Amino acid sequence: MDTFTDLLRNYNLKATPQRLAILQVISRYGHINIDNLYNEIKSQFSSISLATIYKNINSMTEVHLLAEVKLPNTKSVYEIVKEGHAHLKCELCGDIEDLTIDTNSIFADISKLHNFKINQSDVILSGVCKSCQ
Ligand SMILES: [Zn+2]
Ligand SMILES: [Zn+2]
Repeated sequence: MDTFTDLLRNYNLKATPQRLAILQVISRYGHINIDNLYNEIKSQFSSISLATIYKNINSMTEVHLLAEVKLPNTKSVYEIVKEGHAHLKCELCGDIEDLTIDTNSIFADISKLHNFKINQSDVILSGVCKSCQ
C-alpha cells in the first residue's frame, strides 16, 4: 500500500482510501473498465457512487497517473501510466495485454517523417489471445 500512497503524493494528490483502493484494483487487473472497477470498489466501499469513481479516475488521469486506453467498439479501460506501449485486444474474451514496443520513439519518427503533430496515439491490435485460440 505504501507505494500507492507515495505515488499519489508524487502527483500532489491526497492518498484517500478510495484512490488507494482504485489503484490497487487497477494494478491487480492491469487494465480495467469503469463498470468492473465500480463492482470491485463497491465490495469495499458499499456506498460509493459511480460518480465518485469517475471523479477519482478523472483526477488521477488529469495528472497522468492513470491513462485511459480507448478501445474500438467497447468501453475504455484504465491503467497506471507506464512507458509508451501498445495493446493487444482479444476479440473473444476482451482481454487486454500490454505490447512492449517503444511507441514513443516510433511516434517521434512518424512525426518527423510526416511533419505531423500527434495528439492521440492509442495503438490497439485486435485478434485472438493464446487461451482463446
Ligand atoms: Zn481471449
Ligand atoms: Zn497497457
